[in-house]
Amino acid sequence: MNPDYVPSKDPRLGPGSLWAALPIPACRALTYAGHVKSSQILFAMMLHSNDRSFAVFPSRETLAKYSGVGKGSITSATQVLVDFGFIKVNKIKMGRTSRNEYEILRACWHWDEFNEVASRYKVPKGHCVGCGHWIYANGWHYEQRSDGLAVIRMRIHTGCGGRVKNLTKKQILNIRAQEESAGMPLYLLG
Ligand SMILES: [Zn+2]
Repeated sequence: MNPDYVPSKDPRLGPGSLWAALPIPACRALTYAGHVKSSQILFAMMLHSNDRSFAVFPSRETLAKYSGVGKGSITSATQVLVDFGFIKVNKIKMGRTSRNEYEILRACWHWDEFNEVASRYKVPKGHCVGCGHWIYANGWHYEQRSDGLAVIRMRIHTGCGGRVKNLTKKQILNIRAQEESAGMPLYLLG
């Protein structure tokens, strides 16, 4: 068992249940980037995981079967996972042949641990009016603050203290435009 293993608080997941933590940031970023096949391969890998090891050993046939991805696309879709920093592939020698061991990495579950490639495809949840940064899934916390009229519960950019607001339609279109021109979207424009 992993040293930092914590049992789930979900009442449906008690003793006797079999489950894995779905890597939501990785699957969302891959889908956002147009790599749905890679997201499905990662899902198929998760179906062969457990809480005692970071590594899974499904064959290419098994990955194809559980992901719905054609055998001819498995290699390229798996390479995308490596490029995004979501898995590491280790070749294990088995006599004359070898098989792949896929190590599923922490970044799959953490927006803030994405590498440079994956970071281009984070899905912003809002922006900070204090510093102008985009805010991702877990970049804020809630605080009771006055908005001038009443004390309300608002989202605060952790570390900066600025208020987090939802992205406007115009800002989202702006993000898309930057991505299409291959720019790294780090800050909001306008
Ligand atoms: Zn901020």
